[in-house]
Amino acid sequence: MIKHQKNSITGRLIVVSNRLPIIITKKDGKPHIVPGSGGLITAMAPLLKKHKGIWIGWIGTHDFSEEEIAKALHEFEKEAGFKLVSISLTKEEIADYYEGFANEIIWPLFHDLHALCNFKPSYWKGYQSVNIKFAEKIKSIAKNLDFIWIHDYHLMLVGKYLKQNYFNYKLSFFLHIPFAPIDIFLKIPWRFEILRALLDFDSLGFQTQRDMRNFIYNAKALLKDAIFRGSGNKTLCLTDSTVTKVGVYPISIDFDEFEEKAKSPEVEKEVQSIRQSLPGRKLVFSVDRLDYTKGIPYRLEAIANFLKSFPEFHRKVNFIQVIVPSRTDIQGYIDLKEKIDKAVSQINSEYTSPGWIPIHYMFHSLTPVQLLGFYRASDVALVTPIKDGMNLVCKEYAAANIEEKGALVLSEFAGAACQLKEAFLINPYDVEGTSRSIYEALTLSEEKRHFRMKKLRQKIRKENIYFWLNSILESSGEHPISGVPDEYIPEECQKFNE
Ligand code: UDP
Repeated sequence: MIKHQKNSITGRLIVVSNRLPIIITKKDGKPHIVPGSGGLITAMAPLLKKHKGIWIGWIGTHDFSEEEIAKALHEFEKEAGFKLVSISLTKEEIADYYEGFANEIIWPLFHDLHALCNFKPSYWKGYQSVNIKFAEKIKSIAKNLDFIWIHDYHLMLVGKYLKQNYFNYKLSFFLHIPFAPIDIFLKIPWRFEILRALLDFDSLGFQTQRDMRNFIYNAKALLKDAIFRGSGNKTLCLTDSTVTKVGVYPISIDFDEFEEKAKSPEVEKEVQSIRQSLPGRKLVFSVDRLDYTKGIPYRLEAIANFLKSFPEFHRKVNFIQVIVPSRTDIQGYIDLKEKIDKAVSQINSEYTSPGWIPIHYMFHSLTPVQLLGFYRASDVALVTPIKDGMNLVCKEYAAANIEEKGALVLSEFAGAACQLKEAFLINPYDVEGTSRSIYEALTLSEEKRHFRMKKLRQKIRKENIYFWLNSILESSGEHPISGVPDEYIPEECQKFNE
């Protein structure tokens, strides 16, 4: 099992993302900063510490003055052992670059939902100027031999602005969300500029074969001079002025950490409490951020179909749906919430009987202990996004499933489906098919559930967050086309991700 990163960085590690990986709160009227809890920061922290790391990003709030933020960041740095550099963005910049271009264009479009896009030219202008701001900050900090790693769809133009300014150090980029297929990508008014800008990075990492294939297809079709050489993670894209390495690196979780925490006495107590409150019931668990990509309305239709088709499960199963509030000030998200509320209430009003409410619905975030408690106590996890770059919930569910008795029902359109073939793979739009898969997952023999969960866990244990980090660092070494074994590309990619 790979846990510790091999030292493949000669200079410093500079990570750049839209937001800094921190939680900022108000303490005695002043900002107080603690590290965020995501897998990325957990995996990167030791490496950042070791390599005089720097993380550049937006602080995420306008509530404090620049001096207050600088002071809090300095305090954080002393504690964490690496540096945070804040990019200050005005409310107008956030409106155009982040809420506009990133969240009203790229997010829906790269999740195949082009009908939700708002192609406002001012968004593009805001996106360009904020990307220039990030590029200028990187230029002012970077030194020769630094490993500069830019993350995600908010910052696709940063390579272009750096290279325009005679910046010669290597730049790596990782896209956490899917890459759109050509017929959808073509709809972006600035499609050529975005593709060209991506090729100004020295290496591009995608979550799945599907995304890399979409990128290659777009580049071949739209850029006359783009040619591709090599295969797998040794693929190179050559244009008249650029050479870019392209590869697939599915992001993951710290498996051991999840497994360890799932075994803790606090989680054990939580599991008992959940089980005792719903005695003798099978539990089917879902947890999602409130987002239209998560396929929650289709999932609820599938649950309704299940309850109609399999009445023998009435009073014997509970669906637990947790929705973590997100972007609740935006009309589209308010509408989605209303739609979900209505669907849950319709199902519950139709099927509830004394002592049994089929769907237990929560609209709030969970503590880590509660989340792990649900993961462990559930017989089935139902993870059905209509499109997802990877999806970590399904990997966390398997890692926390220490008794190996659970079953995973997973959307074919989650990047994770590529690796997790022992899940019950479903098409989230097919509500009857999903309903049948819920039934199969619930009625599978204990022996088979154990076999499938064991396999899922083996895969995630091996291809954990450190494996992801190592494979990217190794492939970004001095010799761009050496050193990445083919086994880093999951062989058994399911057909949609091949
Ligand atoms: N999660 C959380 N708070 C909660 C429930 C879940 O922070 O109350 C976490 C969960 O553990 C997972 C992440 O949210 O790490 C969701 O990641 P995923 O890739 O599945 O979806 P995303 O929301 O990033 O699209």
